Order: sequence, then C-alpha cells, then structure tokens
Amino acid sequence: MVTELRLSIGYFIIAVIWIVFSDSILHDLFSFNTSFLILAQTYKGLLFVSLTAIILYLTLRREFAKRRQIYKSLSEREDDFRYLFMHNPLPMWVYDLETLAFLDVNATAVEHYGYSRQEFLSMRITDIRPEEEVPRLLEDISSGRPVLQASGVWKHRLKNKSIIDVEITSHRLDFTGRKAILVVAHNVTKRIRMEAELREKEQLHLALEKENELRQIRSSFISSVSHEFRTPLTVISTAIALLERYYERMNPEKRHEHFRTIEREISRLLEMVTDILTMMRSEAVGPEYNTEMIDLHMLCREIYKEIKSGMRPDLKVSLNIDCSETRIRADEKLLRYAIGNLLSNAVKYSRDAGNVWFTLECESDRMVIRVKDEGIGIPEESLPRLFEPFYRAKNAKDISGTGLGLAIAKQAVELHGGMLNVDSTVGQGSEFTILLPRTL
Ligand code: ADP
Repeated sequence: MVTELRLSIGYFIIAVIWIVFSDSILHDLFSFNTSFLILAQTYKGLLFVSLTAIILYLTLRREFAKRRQIYKSLSEREDDFRYLFMHNPLPMWVYDLETLAFLDVNATAVEHYGYSRQEFLSMRITDIRPEEEVPRLLEDISSGRPVLQASGVWKHRLKNKSIIDVEITSHRLDFTGRKAILVVAHNVTKRIRMEAELREKEQLHLALEKENELRQIRSSFISSVSHEFRTPLTVISTAIALLERYYERMNPEKRHEHFRTIEREISRLLEMVTDILTMMRSEAVGPEYNTEMIDLHMLCREIYKEIKSGMRPDLKVSLNIDCSETRIRADEKLLRYAIGNLLSNAVKYSRDAGNVWFTLECESDRMVIRVKDEGIGIPEESLPRLFEPFYRAKNAKDISGTGLGLAIAKQAVELHGGMLNVDSTVGQGSEFTILLPRTL
C-alpha cells in the first residue's frame, strides 16, 4: 500500500478511536480525581493533536530519509548514464520527437561530425541528412518505434559536406519532460564500401564466366551448324550426282525417291536458315510483332497437317480441340512458328512407335495449347536453361538441331503476354504448354 494512503487510514483509525473512546478512557484513568478529569476533558483535543503530530513527524521523518536515499542513488545513476553518454566512443545524441531539434549531443559526435556542440544544438536532425533521405527519415519517425531498435543503414552529412553510411540504434525516452529519442550512430562507411567492391568483383567474375560460357556455346553452335549444313548438302549433292549419272537407268520410283530426299534436305536447310535469321534479326532490331484476329483452331489444324504429312508412319499424332470460341488477336507468323516448333520437336525427339498429343483448350480468360510426347525427355539439369538461344540438352546431341527454336518460341509467346512452360522426365517424355491470354 502507498505511504500516503497508509498514513491517512492510520490517522482516520486513531481519530475515530479517540472520538469514540476518549471520554470513557479519560474517565477510567482519572475517576479518582474529579478536577483532574475535568482538566483532561478540557485539553483532550490538544492531547490528540500533540500525540498525532508526534506520530506524523516520526513517520514522515522515516519516509523522507528513505526517499532522500533513493534520490541520491538515482542521481548517482543519472550521473553514470550521463558519463556513459558523454564519453561513449560512438556518436550519440538526443533529439526532440516533435521539433526534431537536437537536445543533447556527446563528445564523439562533435568530434566525428565536425559540428560544434553549439552548432548541433541549433540544428534539427534533418540538417545532417542528404535531402533524398529526409522523406524516409520522417516516415520512419512517424512509424513510431516504441523500444530500442536498430533502424538500418542511413546516410549522414558531416560538416565538411562528405557523406557517411551509419547504422542507427534508437530508443524513445523522456528528456526533461519532452518526448525524445536517444540515437547511437555507428559509422559503417568502410564496411559498406568493401561490401560494394566485393559485390562488384563478384558481378565481374560472373559476367566473365557468362562470357566464357557464351563463347563456348557459340563455338559449339558454329561447329554444330556447319555440321548440320554439311550433312544435308552432302546428301543433296550425292542425290543430284546419282540422278545425273544414272537418270536414264533409274526406274521412276527410284528417281522420285531421290527427288524426295533432295526436297526433304532442302526444307531442313531452310528451317535452319529461318531459325538463325529470325534469331539474328530479333537480336539486332528486336522481334517483329503484328497482330490481327486469327482463328487458333484453323492454325492448329494447319500446323498439324503439315507435320503429319512429313512424319514417320510409326508415330501417332492426335489433335484434340476442346473449344468453341477460338478467335484471338495474335501475330499469326509468330504463333505458327512457336506451336510448329513444339510439335516438330515432339516428333523429332520421340522414340519409335510413340504417341504425340496435341491439344487446344479454351478457358474463360486464356487459351491453352499442349504438346505432349513419349520421347527421350529432358535431363533435369537442362530444364532451367532450355529456353536459352543455342542451348541443347546432352541427350539430344545425336539428333539434328540448332538450339534456337525454343528460344524463339518463348519470345513469340511472351510477346503475346503469354507463357511457355515445360515439364519433362528423361526417358519418359515431355509436355510443353503455351498459355495465351484471350484479351490482348
Ligand atoms: P533444337 O531442337 O533445334 O535443338 P530447340 O530450341 O527447339 O532446338 O530445342 C532446344 C533443346 O531442347 C533441344 O536441343 C532438346 O535438347 C530439347 N528439347 C526440346 N523439345 C524437346 C522434346 N519434345 N523432347 C526432348 N527434348 C526436347
């Protein structure tokens, strides 16, 4: 119970006892002498006041002595804290939470920041910040951190105008009756600079690594392209030489077979040249993108027919269209390329006697085109890099290709605001999905 309440209750009890029982007590005490009794009854009020004044004096004396002791130790603690504040090796200051004016500042801050103590006390904390940091600072103050808290890295301006990076720890306190914030600032400029240098070095290292990798990919691309060009050209020139030399002796069926070979190899060469030119053009001037209303159903049918006409008979390709409204705004050339590439890849990377499923589904806000095969599949480590230009998975090296088709297809789909995804397991097959938004 607090002292003042204890005193009041004590006083009340004594007073009540005195009022109620004083007469009978005095009567018992002085009954032997009537004149004594009259005297005591006349001065009983004075007696009460004297007694209670003595008790009050003794109680208050004890209480004040106790408080003096507490104040003494508090002021000793305050002196200790003040000493710690003034002689702290880190810059410290206290600022007014409402006016943002510096209220006190320690010796290290004066030494470190170059402003005199007087100068500090005439400034606001916004005066030691670069202008661009002030809005963040005001926002941070108004967010009202309640307790001791590190508030991250800030920029401070010294008197000589140079900027330093500091880590700040702040704490709310009551400073001579004003709401204030105690701040400890730790200069971390060197650390931040070293970290930035380290990051720069790492980035440089990464860029060099990437460049090396790119050089390797390009050189393997050149050797694979020259190989890819040489093979059909050799096949074509052999077929022409045979036709030239033995044309008369060949039956029509044999001649037809050689012409078909020439046609097939020429279209393979054309395909490769188109891929390479598309990639080079889009790298040099950006991709071409012209939209019009097209019927996706018709487009898928056409691509399906084209692929089917030149396909091995042991493969089964099925087209399934589950849509009513299939018209969308798109670049037909780009979509034809992207879908055609997925379908021709599914055929190219399929094993004998496999299945290929080609489906078009319509959802309320998008079209979904899926191409699924039971082919060689894609190794897990190749999946993240599959859409990089010239990238080819290890297990596809024996099958002809340039590694450009998927990169172009992805770019084409993304130009439409869509996505091209892949899901694959080595030896089991792959599924490529094009997601095209309906509203363009
Ligand atoms: P290309 O087929 O000419 O190499 P793409 O860019 O079309 O170029 O494909 C890149 C790589 O992705 C291929 O080399 C192959 O490793 C892998 N790939 C693409 N489609 C399939 C698929 N359906 N099955 C297995 N691997 C595939």
